[in-house]
Amino acid sequence: MKIARLIFNPIQENTYVVWDDTLQAAIIDAGNAGERENEVLEKFLSDNGLRPVLALNTHGHFDHLLGVNFLQDRYGVKLAMSSKDEFLLKNASVSAELFGVRAGDMPEGIDVDLEQMEEITFGSTTLKVIPVPGHTPGHVAFYEPESKVLFTGDTLFRESIGRTDLPGGDYSWIMRSIIDNLLPLGDDVKIYPGHGDVSDLGHEAMYNPFVVEVLNNEVNYKN
Ligand SMILES: [Zn+2]
Repeated sequence: MKIARLIFNPIQENTYVVWDDTLQAAIIDAGNAGERENEVLEKFLSDNGLRPVLALNTHGHFDHLLGVNFLQDRYGVKLAMSSKDEFLLKNASVSAELFGVRAGDMPEGIDVDLEQMEEITFGSTTLKVIPVPGHTPGHVAFYEPESKVLFTGDTLFRESIGRTDLPGGDYSWIMRSIIDNLLPLGDDVKIYPGHGDVSDLGHEAMYNPFVVEVLNNEVNYKN
């Protein structure tokens, strides 16, 4: 599996293009906003001969959704996301305005509900869908076991975690998700977060202050 990271929109969101030998591609958290960024993504896809078939979303925040409508119009891709985050999708334009970002057209709904799915396939690639509620109720991570690659969205960043003070956020749940559902995948698993640099789970277990204080029993996260 090949991975490219493009950083888009004023929130500096990581949009990942992932593909394999079939040259079918999935766009994870398409955050491209406006003509210039749409062109950057379009050019990357055409330069590499890729055919996008899926918009895969870790969660429903606007900065991860800004480019989905473009991908649907231009390539006819389907949007795959958890229906538990549909309330965020409905509010995405308003939320964007609150952050001072012009949203443009947003997707009308979810085409593929990840809520009931354990994995999702494009080309010859299968990604495991791991529920990681906390930053949002319907947040999921995508895991590719062969290359040990994990897309963590806004759940786990390099040496930080996602906000839990936004609507539907919950600190106890995000920590459970990280400790119970992500760390057991193994120290050598590379993480590709929704913002900031890549990392691996071993580094986060050692140096992520939010993870370390929980592992050391310095805070009670099971409220
Ligand atoms: Zn988010």
